[in-house]
Parts: sequence; structure tokens; C-alpha cells
Amino acid sequence: MKSENQNTGKNQQNEVKGIRISRMNFVMCIIACVMFLLLTATVIHVTKTFRNTYAAIRDYVSCMQYGRDFLDSSDYLTDRVRLYSATGDPKYLEQYFSELDRARRENAIKDVEAYHMEAEAYDSIYSALRHSDQLKQQEIYAMSLLANAWDCDPSLIPQTVADTALSPDDLRLSPEEMIEAARDLVFGNDYQRQKQQIIDETQRFQDIIDAATKQRMEHDYSQLYRAMVVHQALIVIHFASMILGFIFSYVLVVRPMAGYVKHIKAREKLQVVGAYECQCLAWTCNTMFARNAAQEHTLRHQAEHDALTGLLNRGAFDNLRQTLHSQGEPMGLLIIDVDKFKQVNDSFGHEMGDRVLKQVASLLAGNFRSMDHPARIGGDEFSVILTNTDSDQQKAILEKIAAINHVLTHPADDLPAVSLSVGGAFSTEGFTDDLYRRADLALYAVKDHGRCGCRFYDDSLEKASPG
Ligand code: GH3
Ligand code: MG
Repeated sequence: MKSENQNTGKNQQNEVKGIRISRMNFVMCIIACVMFLLLTATVIHVTKTFRNTYAAIRDYVSCMQYGRDFLDSSDYLTDRVRLYSATGDPKYLEQYFSELDRARRENAIKDVEAYHMEAEAYDSIYSALRHSDQLKQQEIYAMSLLANAWDCDPSLIPQTVADTALSPDDLRLSPEEMIEAARDLVFGNDYQRQKQQIIDETQRFQDIIDAATKQRMEHDYSQLYRAMVVHQALIVIHFASMILGFIFSYVLVVRPMAGYVKHIKAREKLQVVGAYECQCLAWTCNTMFARNAAQEHTLRHQAEHDALTGLLNRGAFDNLRQTLHSQGEPMGLLIIDVDKFKQVNDSFGHEMGDRVLKQVASLLAGNFRSMDHPARIGGDEFSVILTNTDSDQQKAILEKIAAINHVLTHPADDLPAVSLSVGGAFSTEGFTDDLYRRADLALYAVKDHGRCGCRFYDDSLEKASPG
């Protein structure tokens, strides 16, 4: 049993070749994991690049705003000092110093420092602040000149202006000359030149920021573009691998399985197709079906045939009788009994009796047509169902029986001589209930008239019969 299983396994290995679902699952699992990692990596990369871009835009907007604040504050201070020099109204002094207190310029610089800027940008904005501070000193000095010229009450002018000492040369100037000198300080060419320098430095700062931001944006854009292309390619690969997976599972599993169900319902052999596992299943089912069919055939043969002679047994004879009963075709029936068979057993032993029975069976099977059905229906009793036969064939049948009896009465080897008594009857309507009785009557007539012969039923037998 074990070696039979081993042989079956080897045959299966030889015959079954195909893609293994287990391996394909493993490969698909690896592909899915790799795709997941790649997609996650690209998403992280895209998010990071997007954040960088957002930070670049935010920095750009802030720096531009700081540049504007710086210039606005510087211009405001210039306006206040000029208005003061023109009107002498101390409220402009107040506004000037409250602007200084707000420290808009210094704060702008401090905020710019918070960003990672080009060194050049810092240099420009610090240079602008230095120039602005120089102008502030100049403006405060001009205010001090004006306060002296107008002989203002020291309590009404800011402390910084009051504390600013005039140079000995300026102290010697007349009030008109002082006003003239102060106005020259805040309106003169030198002042304009320095003011322009502040504007230029701030503009330069903004240009550097602008160029650096553009560069960052271009770099981020090309990074984003590349990441998006990779992302799209991964999505296409992912989609293609999914479609391939569906096609593979349909071709390798779903279609073969549907075919198997169809074939099993139709009791047909399964086609060994599809994935390796499906092929194994088909191969195993086919082997199992073939074994079952062989076993069924053996069992049916054993159930229908006589173990000693190999002819149909009584059960099979009765089944055939039922079948032919309903078909209603012309047929003949022979009932055969071995004459004085008990004596054979008694004289030569049971084994010899069996050999005689086997020889009778073999002669019946050999002498009648393949379409006829010889059967052993009792101990030494046989029958032959003659299909598609009518009474015209009586003569041929008589000759066959005579030939068989000749062989039996003249045995070639050590068998004892025996003979057969045969009764026959015909029917035009299949195996009717009366057919067996009539053949039996004919048999008993042969037995009554000295045995070893064959007779067919006729009406005279009814009158002779005791029943
Ligand atoms: P008749 O001519 O009247 O038929 O006489 P007979 O001796 O043949 O009587 P019968 O047909 O009644 O006897 C049948 C005998 O067949 C009885 C039985 O011992 C024997 N027999 C039945 N089955 C077997 C068998 O399988 N093998 C052997 N050797 N003998 C069997
Ligand atoms: Mg007998």
C-alpha cells in the first residue's frame, strides 16, 4: 500500500507541472510590500518637499514685509524730522521718538535673523541699519540745533535732544544760521545720498531674498515633479500587478475550478490544467475516479457473475428477465439441467462435479452468440436467453445442443461423461411470465423421455403436464 502511494506520488510529480499558487502568493506578497514601501517613501518625500516649498514662500513673504517695514520706519523718521524743521511743532519730535521707541527697524532685522538666509542678505540689511543709525544721529543733532535756535523750553523737548551737545563752531552760529545748518543736515545732498544708500541696501536685501527663493522654489519644483512622476509610475505598476493578479487567479484557479465542477457533475475525467495545486487536485481526482470505477466494475462483475463458472448468476438473470420483459422483443429461452449430476458428485467427488459444471458453462458460452446470455441459475441448472430469436431458429439451436452433448458424452480428458437436458420456448413479446414456465415444461418432458436432448414447448405439453 505504501509503495503504491509512493508510485502514485512519483507519477503525479512527472505529470503535474505548473505555476504554484503558494509561490505566486509569496511573490505577490513581496511585490505588495515593496510597492507599499516605495509609495510610502514617495509620499513622505512629496510631503517634505511641499513643506519646504511652503516654508520658502512664507520666508519670502516675511522678508519682503520686513524690508518694507524697515524702509517705512526710516521714511517716517525722515518725514518727522523734516516736518519739525519746517514747522517747529514739538509734536513731530514726540512722534519721531515714539517711532524710535517702537524700534520697527531693529525688530525687522531681528526677525530676519530668525531665517536661514544668505550671508549677503544679512550684510545688506545690517549695512542699511548702520546707515539708518548714522542718519538718526544726524537728525537728532539737527533737532538739537533747531531747539537751540528757537530757544525751546528744555522741558518740552525729548531728553536725547536736550542731551545732544552742539559743536563749539555751531554754538557760535546765529539762530538763523543754526536753522539753516539744521535744514541742510536733513534736506541736503549728503542726507539724500545716505537715504538712497539705505533704500539701495534694502532693495539689494530684497533682491537677494527674491533670487534665493526662486532658486529654492525651482529646486523644490523639480524635486516635486520627479517624485510625482515616480509616484504615478508606481501607481501604474501597482494597478498592472493587481490586474495581472486577477488574470492569473482567473486563468490558474477560477476557470480550472469551474471546469472541474462541470466535469464532476457530468462524471467525466477532469482536465489537468491551471495552477500546480489545481493540477494536483485534478490528477488526484482522476486517479481516485479511475480506482473507484475499476472497483465498481469488479464489484458489479462479482455481484452479477457466478464465482465457479463465470457465467451470469441467478440475480443477474432475474434482472435481465425484468429488462427484457419490458422491451417486448422476440426472444427464446433455454433451461438446461445436467443429467444425473448427483451421481457425478457421488462417484467422482465434488471437485470433479465443479470441473464438469465449468466445462458445461464454457461450452454454452462458446456455442451461443455473443448477443445471447448464458447463466447459471441453480446448482446444476443453466439457462440461455436468446435475444432477437424466434421459432425459426429451433433447428440451429437443436444442433448446438446436440454438439454440446456430443462433447460432454465424449470427454477428451479425465472428466466423466455427462449430458444435458434442455427445454426451450419462444416469445414474440419479450420475457413474459409464461416463457420460463413453458421452457421448464419442455425440460421436464426431455427428462421424462430419457434425458440428453432438447425439446421446445408446444401445446401438447400443457395437456401432458400434471398441473
Ligand atoms: P436429474 O437428472 O434428475 O437432474 O438428476 P440429478 O442428480 O442431476 O438431480 P438434481 O439436478 O436435483 O441434482 C443436482 C445436484 O447438483 C445436487 C447437488 O449436490 C449438486 N450440486 C449443486 N451445486 C453444486 C456445485 O456447485 N458443485 C457440485 N459439485 N455439485 C453441486
Ligand atoms: Mg440435474
